[in-house]
Amino acid sequence: MKFGTRLLHTGVEVDENTGAVSVPIYQVSTFHQTSIDNPGPYDYARSGNPTRDALEELIAVLEDGVRGFAFASGMAAISSVFCLFSSGDHVLVCEDVYGGTYRVLTRLFSRFGLEASFVDTTNLENIKKGLRENTRALFLESPSNPLLKITDLAAAAEIAREAGIITIVDNTFMTPYFQRPLELGADIVVHSATKYLGGHSDLIAGLVVTNSKRLAEELAFIQNAFGAILGPQDCWLLMRGLKTLEVRMKQHQRGAMRIAQWLQEQPQVTQVYYPGLPDHPGHQIISRQATGYGGIVSFRVQNGELARKILHQVKIPVLAVSLGAVESIISYPVKMSHASMPEEHRKRLGVTEDLIRLSVGLEDPEDLIADLEQAMQS
Ligand SMILES: *Cc1c(COP(=O)(O)O)cnc(C)c1O
Repeated sequence: MKFGTRLLHTGVEVDENTGAVSVPIYQVSTFHQTSIDNPGPYDYARSGNPTRDALEELIAVLEDGVRGFAFASGMAAISSVFCLFSSGDHVLVCEDVYGGTYRVLTRLFSRFGLEASFVDTTNLENIKKGLRENTRALFLESPSNPLLKITDLAAAAEIAREAGIITIVDNTFMTPYFQRPLELGADIVVHSATKYLGGHSDLIAGLVVTNSKRLAEELAFIQNAFGAILGPQDCWLLMRGLKTLEVRMKQHQRGAMRIAQWLQEQPQVTQVYYPGLPDHPGHQIISRQATGYGGIVSFRVQNGELARKILHQVKIPVLAVSLGAVESIISYPVKMSHASMPEEHRKRLGVTEDLIRLSVGLEDPEDLIADLEQAMQS
């Protein structure tokens, strides 16, 4: 079945007991056990809940994995995945990784002896050079945030496989509608479902999918032992949002492309980053490994002062952290998503005062353009 059909028909979308066409919210912590020896499929809701099961089945189908897992946030999902590793292990991470992932590795997991190093993975040589004796995983984001750099996921995963380590891809920016990393050779996909998958700025959630039975067993153990699960109400809300993922992503992309092209023509704009533009350095690779370019556009203006002015003068986008929602969100990476990174690391990545990130929502792109224009000229 095609993606749009799978979004709506995974086999768990109709309630077996009543025929309800919306998965019921099982607001429950424990389940009656008819027999001590045969407790049935559910016993305690940290270990399993039918509403969460439906969501986990859905994301596994969408990412072409064997099993999905729902967590309380993207960071809970990512941190639970890092619990696969032990003291003395090392993970190799793309240098422009999400700020929260950078923070949890350098300030929390480091305390438990998990080592992390950060390299520019758009150059595959850096991955080969960065591997150590104790490296256990490669962690990637493509496109990355906020400069939308593209890593060749299949080639990177191949290097990892040859080294006997796993590849983890944070697929938040693309969603399985545009990119399925497991098909490209990754072993684990993680999501901040807070963004496009939920899509409506109304919940915090994280998802993990793997195509390895062994990793699925380990992740199931961690999910239950560590306990950072997603509650049933938010599981339901996330499934509600997911139903429209395909139509939303198409529209986000159409708007982003139009706005990126317009930005390129503006004299105040010194650089536009959108992987759908033919002159983006990763355009060829993303065109091969994904079916679209997403809805995030970053751009530089003449100076930090103008950037601040635009951020304060726009009327349609909300000025906020986060992305991937129905409404456009404009953000200032240097003060928001990347504030938790040391300044020197930020500078090296090019996250400077002149940089703006726009998550293009579902508004009419012409209205967004008119709004950006008045903000630039005011
Ligand atoms: C937001 C985000 C996260 C963290 O997710 P939360 O749901 O905020 O915990 C991780 N990775 C990427 C790429 C993100 O954009």
